[in-house]
Amino acid sequence: MSPVSRYHRQTLLPGIGEAGQERIGAAHAVIVGIGALGCASADLLARAGVGRITLIDRDVVELTNLQRQTLFTEADLGTPKAHAARERLRAVNSSIEIHAHAADFGPRNAAGLFADSPATLLLDGTDNYETRYLLNDLSVQRGVPYLYGGVIADRGMSAALVPGDGRPCLRCVFPEPPAPGSQPTCDTAGVLGPAVAMVAAAQAADALAILCGRIPTPTLLEFSLWPDRRRRIELTHNAECACCVNRRFEFLDADRTDDTTSLCGANTVQVWPGGMAEQRPVDLVALAARLRPLADVTLTDFMLRASLREGATPIDISVFPDGRALVRGTTSAATARTLYARYVGA
Ligand SMILES: [Zn+2]
Repeated sequence: MSPVSRYHRQTLLPGIGEAGQERIGAAHAVIVGIGALGCASADLLARAGVGRITLIDRDVVELTNLQRQTLFTEADLGTPKAHAARERLRAVNSSIEIHAHAADFGPRNAAGLFADSPATLLLDGTDNYETRYLLNDLSVQRGVPYLYGGVIADRGMSAALVPGDGRPCLRCVFPEPPAPGSQPTCDTAGVLGPAVAMVAAAQAADALAILCGRIPTPTLLEFSLWPDRRRRIELTHNAECACCVNRRFEFLDADRTDDTTSLCGANTVQVWPGGMAEQRPVDLVALAARLRPLADVTLTDFMLRASLREGATPIDISVFPDGRALVRGTTSAATARTLYARYVGA
């Protein structure tokens, strides 16, 4: 008699069974953005036994994340989210493989971050449209299902976009991303934890259905909790779609030249001179030695964090080995660039 599997309670479901469980175990889910949505969907997929999970996030854990980002605790403050999430998920399920990248997912490294093992699913945990359209390009180009999701305030949206057989992609439905600044962000509108849980649950349920061989009808689930309203909108294929019909992968082919990015939900600017194009690695040990007389320095294998004061303003600089830095305490790209040049080096 074989011991009862840890997945027994889900293999009881007719839609899963032993065969479905095997397919779940053979899958590779790539989750981009380990914020509120990414935490919740990664937890569900790790517990369900998805055999390989890749976590990608460019940010570190902040106090204001703990209200809704369920993989993190107070002990993780200041740790890269991808690594903190991996540690937590390893404790939950040690029988699966979990890979973490504290990296900025962009056109140049998008595919390279999981080049050694093709993705079975792409999950959206991002807070910006640029990355969503990039994920859609990857999804269509490689024929990998894309689980779209978004949450703002008490409202959420999700859709399972499975390429092929005349099914729509994201650009069939929304041909272009909204203009920058035209949408509310979690900075301005806030986020309700239960709304996150609902979207992540919908994404994970669709993901497991797809892995077990069932393709959901292309619909967009849209809801608000306060007041309680929900609807499903049928999504249709656009015969002139730039992406899935004309196979123009404009977001994947884009050359991002801007070396700074403001991060949603934080008084933070990312600085990355040269960006992915010409990575300039930084020797964190040498940098730590240089900064210690000037700042409170914490050094780990993944990053260096220096807390200092710029006049009366407390500033925090987190530097990663690839030369990328998060400058906290400012929203000005110019200030962030100046601080980077002064403390990290031009
Ligand atoms: Zn399309």
